[in-house]
Amino acid sequence: MTQSNLKHSDTVPEVPDVADVADLPELADLCDAQFDNSFVRELPGDPVAHNVPRAVRDACYTRVNPTPVRAPQLLAWADPVGELLGISRPESPVGPPVEVLGGNRVLPGMQPYAARYGGHQFGHWAGQLGDGRAITLSEIHCPDGKRRELQLKGAGKTPYSRTADGRAVLRSSVREFLCSEAMHYLGVPTTRALSLVTTGETVVRDMFYDGHPKAEMGAIVCRVAPSFVRFGNFEILAAHRELETLKRLADYVICEHFPELGAPSPATYARWFEEICRRTGTLVAQWMRVGFVHGVMNTDNMSILGLTMDYGPYGWLEGFDLQWTPNTTDAQGRRYCFGNQPQIAEWNLTRLASALASLVEDQAALERGLAVFGETFHNAWRETLADKLGLASLGHEGDDILVSDLFDLMQQVETDMTLFFRGLMAVPIGDATDHAGNPDNPGHMDDGALAGLLRRAFYTEQAFEATQSSRLIGWLRRYIARVRLDAEAADKVNAVEFANLRLERMRRANPKYVLRNYMAQQAIEALEQGDATVITRLMEVLKHPYDEQLGQEELADRRPEWARNKAGCSALSCSS
Ligand code: AMP
Ligand code: MG
Repeated sequence: MTQSNLKHSDTVPEVPDVADVADLPELADLCDAQFDNSFVRELPGDPVAHNVPRAVRDACYTRVNPTPVRAPQLLAWADPVGELLGISRPESPVGPPVEVLGGNRVLPGMQPYAARYGGHQFGHWAGQLGDGRAITLSEIHCPDGKRRELQLKGAGKTPYSRTADGRAVLRSSVREFLCSEAMHYLGVPTTRALSLVTTGETVVRDMFYDGHPKAEMGAIVCRVAPSFVRFGNFEILAAHRELETLKRLADYVICEHFPELGAPSPATYARWFEEICRRTGTLVAQWMRVGFVHGVMNTDNMSILGLTMDYGPYGWLEGFDLQWTPNTTDAQGRRYCFGNQPQIAEWNLTRLASALASLVEDQAALERGLAVFGETFHNAWRETLADKLGLASLGHEGDDILVSDLFDLMQQVETDMTLFFRGLMAVPIGDATDHAGNPDNPGHMDDGALAGLLRRAFYTEQAFEATQSSRLIGWLRRYIARVRLDAEAADKVNAVEFANLRLERMRRANPKYVLRNYMAQQAIEALEQGDATVITRLMEVLKHPYDEQLGQEELADRRPEWARNKAGCSALSCSS
């Protein structure tokens, strides 16, 4: 094995650096930023101006302003997103920039709109959905030369609000704000979040869908992405046979966001679909790598850019369970559980393929695109697993069984996915690569000590009962032997380098800190009491999810037992 075989694979993303202070661009007040409105300018808008819920036809959006709120106040701000946009943190929690972010002020140059889209929800065509509470304010010219959309979620009613109120509660807004940023620092493609503003108004929600609605604090998140276009934007146009508008939207998205594919043509549309399939395959492999479960993979929540979007009742695997879903609405069917995410993504892409059929002359090209999804996911997931296990590849005889036995083992007793994989880094593999064992007897650890390395990953004592413990030890011994095969294949002279590179690869594939649901809940409860310290601490720690961080160990531990069944800490409803 050469050194190049040892470098981390392409599936482990470059984790973005938190900007160096010296590199910071000049930051301007939001009110002085340069805005653009290409979506509005280039695409057909709704000819009707009424802001009442209704079916919209022959349009990609409706122009609508946010509905002002009583007392907008800034609760949280993501400095790195501000820097990306060239916007400075508002000096005060109230004042003009916060009025913009709360929807009370539309700046000159902004042309706010709600997008029209439809979607398949839980496997069924749901007709028109659209931005029922999200309003894109404008696009902003960023210091890196790119344009990004600023979108307020919870900004009031639009023609797409159906019977709902156009608002969002603080708890779901905190969850979206925190998770978008956590995912970014994990290296998972995602929309971002700039600000979290409370509205000074209450919003009534039946959080448990049990007939007990309550008034909760309202909030608005300002989301940021190059585009919020979803599969559903195309589906609604295809469903209504608005094929000219469909083509215009496709051309706009390709020219703006996929210029490398060339001028729009039937062949370009096919390549574009293939690229969406590729990005979606990579995205889902990344979700699986970090144990993220989206929870509501309806086609209206699938980004055309391959970003994670619409953070609702998402969750992180604590006990490893392929069947686990964080969404209580999905508890029966488990359509959107952890292990189903790849097949659901493919099903959604198939719906997108149908929507794009009128653009592509050669329908077989769409089939090929779907095949690219399968290949991309398959390869990315295998490479990811190899990275997580610290193996050069999963191409060795017996590797598939090693992996499936591991999943069985983790599923048999409640095993924390994050802690288990991170814990594997401590398993000594012998020889010069032994960094955790006894230096006098390198590589050898007795059974008890070996199992003890992973003790923190288990939620119940059952894991340490004789049968289960011997299964774990048996698996670990096979794993060690397998890693040794890689070590032997590596150049002997480079044994130390082999060990270092292997551990580095594992470190980058196995986060130490993830946004466990109970942590978001703690941030919410503190903010409800006016205390921002919890959210601020989480934001800082989650900027470096792969690093050891002194003094933050408790945030890298198992979910505490009190959080097991506490509302908001495990499963959630869609109420938001
Ligand atoms: P979601 O489940 O959040 O992805 O939303 C599905 C659809 O319902 C989208 O069209 C949303 O805009 C709409 N929606 C969700 N919550 C609200 C709300 N409070 N007011 C208006 N529309 C909403
Ligand atoms: Mg949605």
